[in-house]
Amino acid sequence: MKPICPNCHSAHVVENIDINTQSMSEHLFSPKLLASLGASFCKYYKINPMIGMVAGGAIATVINLAQQRLMQPPLLKTAIMPRYLCSTCQHTFSI
Ligand SMILES: [Zn+2]
Repeated sequence: MKPICPNCHSAHVVENIDINTQSMSEHLFSPKLLASLGASFCKYYKINPMIGMVAGGAIATVINLAQQRLMQPPLLKTAIMPRYLCSTCQHTFSI
């Protein structure tokens, strides 16, 4: 059964999965950022910055893998936050 827009009662509704949180965490835990964080950490403690970069990259990989595993069932996320976008009036709503 297709949802109907509560604003204009149009049936031209597309599923709109909110990916804002995902892209935000990707930005926060980007390997580049963590690598530079690790490098500056090592600079501060006078350790070879290469070790910090490698460690930061490894941490980023672990975090990304964990996130991918959490994000894996998109159906679960959709079940929690079902969002729909009306292509007629651009109204976003959830059921
Ligand atoms: Zn509408």
